[in-house]
Amino acid sequence: IKAQSSTNGAINASEDQNDDFILEDVPHLTDFLTDLPSYPNPLKKSQAYAIVKRTFVSSEDAVAQKIVVQKDSPRGLHFRRAGPREKAQEVRSCVVTCGGLCPGINTVIREIVCGLNNMYGVDEVLGIQGGYRGFYSKNTIQLTPKSVNDIHKRGGTFLQTSRGGHDTNKIVDNIQDRGINQVYIIGGDGTQKGAAAIYKEVEKRGLKVAVAGIPKTIDNDIAVIDKSFGFDTAVEEAQRAINAAHVEVESVQNGIGIVKLMGRYSGFIAMHATLASRDVDCCLIPESPFYLEGQGGLFEFVEERLKENGHMVIVLAEGAGQEYVAQTLHADDKKDASGNRLLLDVGLWLTQKIKDHFTNIRKMDVNMKYIDPTYMIRAIPSNASDNIYCTLLAQSAVHGAMAGYTGFTVGPVNSRHAYIPISRVTETQNIVKLTDRMWARLLASTNQPSFLSCEVVQERVNKQIFDDIHNMKITST
Ligand code: ATP
Ligand code: MG
Repeated sequence: IKAQSSTNGAINASEDQNDDFILEDVPHLTDFLTDLPSYPNPLKKSQAYAIVKRTFVSSEDAVAQKIVVQKDSPRGLHFRRAGPREKAQEVRSCVVTCGGLCPGINTVIREIVCGLNNMYGVDEVLGIQGGYRGFYSKNTIQLTPKSVNDIHKRGGTFLQTSRGGHDTNKIVDNIQDRGINQVYIIGGDGTQKGAAAIYKEVEKRGLKVAVAGIPKTIDNDIAVIDKSFGFDTAVEEAQRAINAAHVEVESVQNGIGIVKLMGRYSGFIAMHATLASRDVDCCLIPESPFYLEGQGGLFEFVEERLKENGHMVIVLAEGAGQEYVAQTLHADDKKDASGNRLLLDVGLWLTQKIKDHFTNIRKMDVNMKYIDPTYMIRAIPSNASDNIYCTLLAQSAVHGAMAGYTGFTVGPVNSRHAYIPISRVTETQNIVKLTDRMWARLLASTNQPSFLSCEVVQERVNKQIFDDIHNMKITST
């Protein structure tokens, strides 16, 4: 394995893109603790793994980010493969959940507790209540396989959550005082940045604490990993809202249904929900700016569909068209407790714009139906496929922390579960690429305008084509 040691002892990707094989490794506790005790992994004797062909993942195993077929050897960026290792650590662990709700959080909590207990015999699992601030200001609860047995059937988070309140020193003081040596942190981009700060402080203090992040975002916008948990469930539940909108607009004259779905910076939920539904006439996402008036604009398209079918449904991601909404509402740049910009309601804005246009300019009666199912979607328990996925994430995190890895997040890369340095998943966000086939499939399915004559769309498409060519050069050198 060709890899490069970084200053903190972790092995990082080499900047030299000519390297045959680049392993973006995650730190291990032995990087800053030379006398780390370990014992043989009990899984060797466990019934569960007795018939597995190869019980332990070798330190040589890596997961390729992209499949690049080469004549002699694998090339490109790789991550450590997730899974049990031969040696394990003594454990006192804790779990915390932060940020917004997402289907599947409870399954992850449950499977961390059960995984630790069933596979490694750990009974010391502490639940930190109410997000990061729970470390220093709220109660904790003991989590046992019994107490978490049924929680995957419920939505929300069994441990409660919050925004803001990340005080690295206070949190690490608390971890130290309680003698905790494994921290499992479930949350989105903000939470993972907080996890990285905790890991850095732990390392600075030379503590024997493994920090494992489990990435959570219903928007599916976490970089590197194939998909985030809760996404499948969200797309499925969104069908009910789209269906309701369709039923409503079909039952009136010139009915126009607008369904606002989650997606602050990326339109994955809107795109997938549209592709799954067939009742959607137009999908608007943050990555593809749209315009209302003139040739090829949204108003023209709406009028066409009304003439053709007598009704139509628009699905839009909450982050779409924010630039227009801000212009109209002249709103202040408000932020939440975690410092995230609060979005303006594009659904309400679009509903009003369409109504005004058809009533005042086109002199047509239209029936607007606006549905915002956000909280209904976020609050449900995860579906079958997300439940399985959450189990894999939790078990991978447990195996990684038990082996002494730290400062890592888990997730499938190229369909194999891997350990990824936290910084990798927080530095960028996944977005829908307008030059990818999936967006083309959506346009082909709805036959909606592509808004390609819009300058911003052109610029983005050109940039993506440029990036694609650049990336292709890197992977093929
Ligand atoms: P989502 O956006 O999916 O709801 P999130 O994890 O991004 O989830 P946030 O509210 O942004 O949600 O952050 C959750 C927690 O992480 C908060 O307690 C916040 O204080 C903390 N946090 C956010 N950004 C940072 C950062 N840059 N450094 C340290 N902590 C952070
Ligand atoms: Mg966030």
